[in-house]
Amino acid sequence: MKIEINTKWELIKAIFITTLVSIIFSNILVYIFETLYSPPLASSDIIGTTLISGIASLLASSIIFYQNFLVSKTKADMENVNRRLLNAQKKLRKQANTDSLTGLFNRRSYFLSMKKEISRYERQQRPFSLLLMDIDHFKKVNDSFGHSRGDVVLQKLAKILQETAREQDIVARTGGEEFSILLPEAKKEEAKVMAERIRETVSKSEMGSQEIEIQITISIGVAEILPGEDVDAIYNRADLALYRAKAKGRNCVELD
Ligand code: GH3
Ligand code: MG
Ligand code: MG
Repeated sequence: MKIEINTKWELIKAIFITTLVSIIFSNILVYIFETLYSPPLASSDIIGTTLISGIASLLASSIIFYQNFLVSKTKADMENVNRRLLNAQKKLRKQANTDSLTGLFNRRSYFLSMKKEISRYERQQRPFSLLLMDIDHFKKVNDSFGHSRGDVVLQKLAKILQETAREQDIVARTGGEEFSILLPEAKKEEAKVMAERIRETVSKSEMGSQEIEIQITISIGVAEILPGEDVDAIYNRADLALYRAKAKGRNCVELD
């Protein structure tokens, strides 16, 4: 598209230059001839001179036009290559940060987000909390319905988590059947309310298909950032809370 517009303009420019140059050139030639040979030139000679200068300038402007066309084309080609490179780069960056099964953030990018949130906490004392979730007896789901049905369950759970989370929350698949949500600005009491809502929604949701009914429950550990903690410290505390939820009989929320 861009190249067409450029080409059109180049063509108009070339025609304009051709006409102008041929008029000026033929007039100069006629003037020189008439000065050298005192009798005025015959009209056929003037036409001949105009024609020759017209053809010469047409040739010159065709060359200019062709060169300009090549430059525009090369520019358009380069823009195209650049655009494709940028798209490929974006795709690669997304792939590096995303879990391919669920489309959620992967563990690597989740930990990077936690790092950012911790430095924000240190600079501005803005709290945040983590929810660490694990499907109860997921091995049984795989054993009873097969691994691919198990995968669908993971995808459905991911969808529920995304729908329940607030816009600013970061939802990730941090392990096989382990998920985590980073809740910026949330203290542990607020995080617990959120965890309860998720736990209840999951326990009431149908995770199978039309032919097969699958019901699951999840256990959740909650932890709020403490002064001086790093990524591993808060994650481990949430993990301990999750462990306690499992020990308590599963399908429950435990606060650190
Ligand atoms: P618990 O209540 O103690 O968590 O029991 P569990 O059976 O869920 O725990 P365990 O960690 O022993 O088993 C987790 C299972 O999750 C085992 C593994 O096969 C399954 N799993 C891990 N990743 C995937 C996956 O990507 N797809 C499927 N379908 N299953 C997975
Ligand atoms: Mg597990
Ligand atoms: Mg499990």
